[in-house]
Amino acid sequence: MPSYSIATVCLSGRLDAKLRAAADVGFQQVEIMEADLIAYDGAPRDIGRMCRDLGLEICCYQPFRDFEGMTGAQRAANFRRAERKFELMAELGTDLLLVCSNVSPASVGGIDRSAADFRELGELAARHGMRVGYEALAWGRHVSDYRDAWEVVRRADHARVGLVLDSFHALARRTPIDAIRSIPGDRIFLVQLADAPDYQLDVLSWSRHFRCFPGQGDLPVTDFMRAVQDTGYAGPWSLEIFNDQFRASSTARVARDGLRSLVDLADKLQLEKLPPLSPQNGFSFLEFAVDAASATRLETLLQGLGFVRSGRHKSKAVDRWTQGEINLVVNTEKTGFAYSHFVTHGPGVCVVGLETQDPQAVLERGRALKAAPYSGHVNPGEAAVPTLAGVGGALVSLLPPSSAGADIWRDEFSALEPSAPAGQLRAIDHIAQTMHSDEMLSWLLFYETIFGLERLSLQEIADPGGLVQSRAVASADDRVRIVLNGSNASATQSARFVQEFFGSGVQHIAFATDDIFSTVAAMRQKGVAFLEIPANYYDDLDARFALSPETLAAMRDNRILYDRDQNGAFFQIYTQTFEGRFFFEIVQRDAYRGFGAPNAPVRLSAQTRELPAGMPRH
Ligand code: MG
Ligand code: MG
Repeated sequence: MPSYSIATVCLSGRLDAKLRAAADVGFQQVEIMEADLIAYDGAPRDIGRMCRDLGLEICCYQPFRDFEGMTGAQRAANFRRAERKFELMAELGTDLLLVCSNVSPASVGGIDRSAADFRELGELAARHGMRVGYEALAWGRHVSDYRDAWEVVRRADHARVGLVLDSFHALARRTPIDAIRSIPGDRIFLVQLADAPDYQLDVLSWSRHFRCFPGQGDLPVTDFMRAVQDTGYAGPWSLEIFNDQFRASSTARVARDGLRSLVDLADKLQLEKLPPLSPQNGFSFLEFAVDAASATRLETLLQGLGFVRSGRHKSKAVDRWTQGEINLVVNTEKTGFAYSHFVTHGPGVCVVGLETQDPQAVLERGRALKAAPYSGHVNPGEAAVPTLAGVGGALVSLLPPSSAGADIWRDEFSALEPSAPAGQLRAIDHIAQTMHSDEMLSWLLFYETIFGLERLSLQEIADPGGLVQSRAVASADDRVRIVLNGSNASATQSARFVQEFFGSGVQHIAFATDDIFSTVAAMRQKGVAFLEIPANYYDDLDARFALSPETLAAMRDNRILYDRDQNGAFFQIYTQTFEGRFFFEIVQRDAYRGFGAPNAPVRLSAQTRELPAGMPRH
């Protein structure tokens, strides 16, 4: 198992809070960044002691800039500066100084000249019992490629001088990574890991603001690490992330995400023994936390949507509503988790139930990846359902396939006579969870690493109040699809949801039907009110898709929205928002893979118009 490290620059807060968060989540090592040390009101010796008290080793002190290839007085000054840093490092209790490649216009190129500088620095380091590691910055003046940095180190030929590899610098410039395999592992002093989204930016801005943890971006960090492993490298895996959002986020959450990303990466390389990913077969249920008054209104809506109250919990104020293979649970208990969720958030989804092949394996995998298991009160005769804390404090509960024998519906619910004919909704097509945008990467990592869901492409959606980022994760067979929406702009529907719901949560639930026109007609007959869509939308649709006049008229009459991709067609319609909290969507799709993103601005404008009087409309 590798030793996991994080650079203090990744985290927000005071240095002591950063160190505590790193230790709490389980990092064994840290890189102390000079800026954090300088800003801290304690001596280096105290910082060193604090680390040791927390059980943290300091794997390096960094950065030491603009060293090699200097001449005259500048060169001499650099050696003096290095000596001061070695003295500081002795106080701190670390022996590795990270030297990044020179960016100064005053520097002179030449591999041999740099190698000579490093040999001399190695001598100085040896006298202080220190080592130096050389890192190629992707924007270094003469050395910007790890292969050149390695050549400098090789020619310096000094036991105290080694190489630092940083996945971002190697991958951002699309340097071939195969050459890593020819570097002896013991000559690599440190490996730093960072991923990044695939942005077209100058490499310096890209690195300084958009780095993210391995698996959160688009760079082939796993391939990079596989090449490193082949060298026999046995040192720490150290996260070095410069990211504006991370530095404005919860210290503990970012530390946890960092460790999660490393453990998952090590698992991919078969260095950790996590329980294997268990396939997600679909949504087994969604549970709503409500009080008696909102339960009555919600149940009226569910009836309108064609659901039937099919079961009542044997010992709790909990009803089961079903249609097709959909299970909805309405919980009006006055104690317990659902009640506290209701008190905090108002009516809303408090549990997302997933059907998975091996619930216990998901729970154990989640535990190993630092997710919080939840164990609630279990009555006699009830099964303890493996459960993890999810988005906004809602729970993710894991049920086995009903074929596996256990069946909570049969065992814990009394069956009620269905009082209405079955409706036309077949399954849950997707759910959408809304959150602050700085939580998006965190929950993406949660769904990908623990549940094996895969990321679909990122969409940016125009809300009347600002931009909303939307990214979906889905199981390989698309039976579980979760759309994550995040916004920074405080006037967007997403941000408003987060404010009014007092945190992140499920904002809408989409049900699948095979015939949206007859489904919607039946729902309208039962009094369901749908979102009003302006006539302009349908004129534009006609121009874009050349639909038959009958289909277009039927869509216009019913307020049904439409989209199409290379795979097929998509129809969707939205209910009005329930008590300002969440809404339902009905969709009909064949092989279409999206979620109607082109229609989202139309939906968001319509929802803004339907806001209760007195709320800001922008
Ligand atoms: Mg680095
Ligand atoms: Mg949707």
